[in-house]
Amino acid sequence: MNCRSVENLIDLYAEESLSPARMAAIAAHLKGCKDCAALAHLARPLPRAAKVSAPDALKARLKKALSAAEPAESPKLRLIRVERDSVPVLAFAALSGFLSLMLHATLRAPNSQKQAVELGRLP
Ligand SMILES: [Zn+2]
Repeated sequence: MNCRSVENLIDLYAEESLSPARMAAIAAHLKGCKDCAALAHLARPLPRAAKVSAPDALKARLKKALSAAEPAESPKLRLIRVERDSVPVLAFAALSGFLSLMLHATLRAPNSQKQAVELGRLP
């Protein structure tokens, strides 16, 4: 195996994803080629990050510290938040009302014309 082939396969070699025959061929090349050996050293996979979790006592202390650090909400701020949260509801209510009026007007229009004819106002 030549340097070019090793260079192309070095990542797969580092992941040990090649066939045993190819792995052996590359390993043999690496023993005799400093450049490719250096490349193989760079291509080796990074160690996986250890899965670490904070101790429960630390989590509890952090939660307590965070809840103590939250500023008390002023009544004015609470009112602003309520108003902001109710905007979509108000918009929906306004749109519903508008659509109801339009529907009512649309359905009512032929009757008005019919009544006008019956009353002799229209031919
Ligand atoms: Zn080489």
